Amino acid sequence: MNPNDPRAELRRFVMELPKAELHVHLEGTMEPELYLAMAARNGLATPYADAEAVRQRLREARDLPSFIRIYEELIGAIRSAQDFRDLAMAFYAKAQSQGVIYAEVFFDPQLHLERGVPLAAIFGGLERARLEAAQTLGFAARYIMCFLRDRPAEDALQVLRDSAPWRDEFIGIGLDNPEVDGFPQKFAAVYAEARAMGLRLTTHCDVGQPNTVAHHWGALDVLGVERIDHGLNVLDDPKLVEAVRARRIGLTAAPTLFYTDIPGRMEYRAGAIRRLLDEGLLVSVNSDDPGMKRSLYVGDLMLRVQQTTGVSRAALVQLARNSFVTAWLPDAEREACLARLDAYVAAHPEPMPA
Ligand SMILES: [Zn+2]
Repeated sequence: MNPNDPRAELRRFVMELPKAELHVHLEGTMEPELYLAMAARNGLATPYADAEAVRQRLREARDLPSFIRIYEELIGAIRSAQDFRDLAMAFYAKAQSQGVIYAEVFFDPQLHLERGVPLAAIFGGLERARLEAAQTLGFAARYIMCFLRDRPAEDALQVLRDSAPWRDEFIGIGLDNPEVDGFPQKFAAVYAEARAMGLRLTTHCDVGQPNTVAHHWGALDVLGVERIDHGLNVLDDPKLVEAVRARRIGLTAAPTLFYTDIPGRMEYRAGAIRRLLDEGLLVSVNSDDPGMKRSLYVGDLMLRVQQTTGVSRAALVQLARNSFVTAWLPDAEREACLARLDAYVAAHPEPMPA
């Protein structure tokens, strides 16, 4: 591509645009190469000859249950604090290469506890990566503990209580995995206890789920969340649009679905992001499970949204601004991030049309 090509110019602008990532699952950042290296050093047999074979397997996921099966298979390679550290550091370096200067990263302790990996290994690795990223990359990160919606609420509560010794290592809680019956009401007590502990609150409301409007209202009014992960179906109810705007709820949208795109899905998701922006809602673009979804990170995805919907450069800047506004940052850190964004935009005026 010619470097003076306006598309090349836009690509550079987006890749270096300072932004935050607020919806990424640490486990889902596992790239095929890292999976194979981790499995080998942990002495695990895998059925894959090489990274391409892992990618081929990832291409088989066409719905959430099949995706979760592959996901759980690949994260079976994570065993030790060193593994968690390596996984997180690989993500931080990759995210930084696409202009991300701050990340709030989900991790799912239940997925690891079920495999016999203790909380001490999880938190030990996460903390080492966070400190190392700050020191060696100048990259800031915090963690969000996620619970599995298809497991009993009592299990979530137990994990939350068992994590008390590492309370300073995570800033909030979330919910992921399939959006089952009883969500979100069944987690009301977990959220009340987390709130009392001073934790911040978010939850997934996945795209196109049954009873999605009721689930969004429950997230707001029963769980009392400050953000919704995905949240595109807010658009289904004008009153919900109004409430999300008035309460300044962050929507952490993620454009990619699986390793292989399903026709029309990127168009739907990117179009919804554009409409949420047009409604003045605090939506941002996020990578979700980039290692298992075609290695598309936030910069790549903002470009996809732009290419798919034709949004303006100002809209892309607004998406980045929203990521900082809805991040769970102390005020001084937020101001510093926004100042960095403003300085970047001021230094990169939009080229005049030829
Ligand atoms: Zn997610």
